Amino acid sequence: MLQALRGVAEQHQLPLDLRDDTHFFSTVREFAAHSKGRKQLRLEYWYRELRQKHDILMDGKQPVGGQWNFDADNRESFGKAGPQNVPPPSRFAPDAITQEVIAEVQTRFAKHPGRLQRFGWPVTRVQALEALNAFIEQRLPLFGQYEDAMWAGEAWLYHSHLSSALNLKLLNPREVVAAAEAAFQNGHAPLAAVEGFIRQILGWREYVRGIYWTQMPGYLDLNALDAQAELPAWYWTGNTDMACLKDAITQTLDLGYAHHIQRLMVTGGWNCPTPWA
Ligand SMILES: Cc1cc2nc3c(=O)[nH]c(=O)nc-3n(C[C@H](O)[C@H](O)[C@H](O)COP(=O)(O)OP(=O)(O)OC[C@H]3O[C@@H](n4cnc5c(N)ncnc54)[C@H](O)[C@@H]3O)c2cc1C
Repeated sequence: MLQALRGVAEQHQLPLDLRDDTHFFSTVREFAAHSKGRKQLRLEYWYRELRQKHDILMDGKQPVGGQWNFDADNRESFGKAGPQNVPPPSRFAPDAITQEVIAEVQTRFAKHPGRLQRFGWPVTRVQALEALNAFIEQRLPLFGQYEDAMWAGEAWLYHSHLSSALNLKLLNPREVVAAAEAAFQNGHAPLAAVEGFIRQILGWREYVRGIYWTQMPGYLDLNALDAQAELPAWYWTGNTDMACLKDAITQTLDLGYAHHIQRLMVTGGWNCPTPWA
């Protein structure tokens, strides 16, 4: 997008004034200053810096609860019975404009992977706020506990499903983080869940963006794990016997969504040094 804007400005000899994106807590300049001179970049140090700077979950200069991170409490499984009484996700029937866009996508991108029938994401500010409130009320208290768990056929679990609303600027990360922090302060959600959730937004979201703008495009070619194989054809259909991949890919095609652990450990973890039979 930036290249396209620069191109148009140059072509028409228009001055281009680049402003900071208010949709993040930090600026790329701050991330560049943080990274300068470091041998290694780590989420943890960047996250602590932002916690202090924005006074989030802080008790003076110390983190609330005496630790920066409570992930030792955040690694539970569902046990043999599987997830019980998971709250239904906030889904919204497509309005007239959304239906128009769906029809256009169907025509213009007919050969792209993915299905449109089950589209249900928030597309207005009111819907996005409804999704945020439902998350804080219903899912946040168990978000941490089951953050890293998966279960066949369970796409939504206790995740927030807010990334599309955040990326589309229907929600500002500051209001999302403030709502989570308030849920801890009023006793609605435990610290481990709230800290874990805030770390995704104040931590990872800001960190990955900083990496993108300071390291790309060179980062694209690093390929530290030396993955050379082409992605197999079933990566675009889910048509494989490997249960976790089948589940994560099929749900991505149907819902446009896979949660963090599915992306990280399943679809993002697929690496095929020697082609499988
Ligand atoms: C391989 C891989 C690919 C990913 N691709 C995308 C992508 O294309 N678009 C995208 O928005 N996110 C991406 N993520 C980040 C994250 O997995 C998704 O945002 C998350 O699954 C969205 O679901 P959620 O809103 O329920 O997240 P939650 O688990 O409820 O997390 C809360 C919020 O924190 C932020 N967040 C959480 N984890 C990350 C992360 N690792 N990096 C950046 N922000 C994060 C998101 O805004 C998210 O909505 C990717 C992660 C991995 C490992």
